[in-house]
Amino acid sequence: MKIGYYPGSFDPITFGHLDIIERGAKLFDKLYISISVNPNKKTMFTPEERVQLVRDVIYYLPNVEVVTSSILTVEHCKMLGASHILRGLRAVTDYDYEFQITNFNRRLSSEIDTVFLMTEGQNSYLSSSSVRELAYFNGDVTPFVPLVVAEAIKQKIKNSTLR
Ligand code: ADP
Repeated sequence: MKIGYYPGSFDPITFGHLDIIERGAKLFDKLYISISVNPNKKTMFTPEERVQLVRDVIYYLPNVEVVTSSILTVEHCKMLGASHILRGLRAVTDYDYEFQITNFNRRLSSEIDTVFLMTEGQNSYLSSSSVRELAYFNGDVTPFVPLVVAEAIKQKIKNSTLR
């Protein structure tokens, strides 16, 4: 059984992530989406909220499971029996960073390899951070994220301005 591991912040999940997940789900028998938990990183959504949103979005993909991680990616892969890390590539600007972490992970564990899927053209400019930015300025995020995520963002912004 081929098991893939797709790590990221998913703060929040966008149509760009979803494209990679749907295609990854066809490549692997099982695909874990791993949501990073880093208490030092300021995020819009808590790990629990990010997990719930991803679960709500991928409900129709039976071989995809959402987990959280606060340990080294390669260690988590080994724990879950994953042989491959899955990453998405947008523009060339992603390349440098991905090249670095791929080789670093390879150095840490040579048996775990990384595969890349190139994004759909229309998602190549799409990132969680631009969605967050757009939302803070009251822009319409619905072209970029699933409806359930757009609703959660709306609530989040509303609650934060109430404080
Ligand atoms: P990280 O903090 O690890 O970069 P992200 O949630 O931003 O976490 O991204 C997780 C993975 O999803 C990365 O491989 C990233 O390149 C990929 N990704 C993010 N947005 C897109 C997109 N629009 N199209 C394709 N891949 C994407």
